Amino acid sequence: MAERSHSYRTRAVILRRRNYRDADRILTVFTPRLGKRLLIAKGIRKTTSRKAGHLELFSHTNLLLAKARTWDIITESVTVESFLQLRADLDCISQAAYICELIDAFSAEDDENETVWELLLLCLRELNESATNAARRDLLLRWFEVQLLTQVGFQPELFSCLGCAEELRPGDNFLHLLAGGVFCPKCGGKAKGAQPIASNVLKVLRHLSRTPWGSLRELQIGLPTALAAENVLQRYLVTVLERRLKSTDFIHRLRQASQIRPPAPKQAQQPANGIIEPSDP
Ligand SMILES: [Zn+2]
Repeated sequence: MAERSHSYRTRAVILRRRNYRDADRILTVFTPRLGKRLLIAKGIRKTTSRKAGHLELFSHTNLLLAKARTWDIITESVTVESFLQLRADLDCISQAAYICELIDAFSAEDDENETVWELLLLCLRELNESATNAARRDLLLRWFEVQLLTQVGFQPELFSCLGCAEELRPGDNFLHLLAGGVFCPKCGGKAKGAQPIASNVLKVLRHLSRTPWGSLRELQIGLPTALAAENVLQRYLVTVLERRLKSTDFIHRLRQASQIRPPAPKQAQQPANGIIEPSDP
């Protein structure tokens, strides 16, 4: 079938959907070449719609679109990957939703970012493959957060002191969320709002920032360190998002999540050095 000039094709992952009018749905999708886009699926909520099965959340699809004034119209969709294992597990679903929400929150419409597209697909595939490995999925989320922050220009400074630019060494360093990174022991004491960060946690964050997922996926991190790294990243994400977007719902939920996390169990032993601790059973 010949495609008319006002039609175009793209691959897309569905980040978000909302109902519109009687039978339509507005979809927020992420694409490799067009970044984030809002599209309309007309008549999709009718029981006779043939499109419905191909436009599930998190699906990787191939779309044929017709240009329109407000939202381009989905005229055809074919599923490329449906991530079925992921969909069978509630934890996996909420983790996929988290990944999609974070990408949505950090992306502007029509702002191409092919690296973020690759990151999104990699994470959905890994969630799907690691549906039975909760520790790996947690590690994946932390890696995703650091990688996404880097790709959208908010990478925290983890290697040199924000004050004196000296290389950071293991010791009593300080994290400063608003300043976007870490101060050395000398500068951190003077920086208002800085708070101590454990060497193990800093080491994990650095490792996440410079290691490709393929080399990281077998890594096991002790639970106290993993929870502490998660807490730092959640608070950093809230800080960045508040400054950048003033996004509402998502930040509230993120903040709640960082508050309801249980504190690291005290009885667990932290090794003096190294992040590659045996994982908790
Ligand atoms: Zn310094």
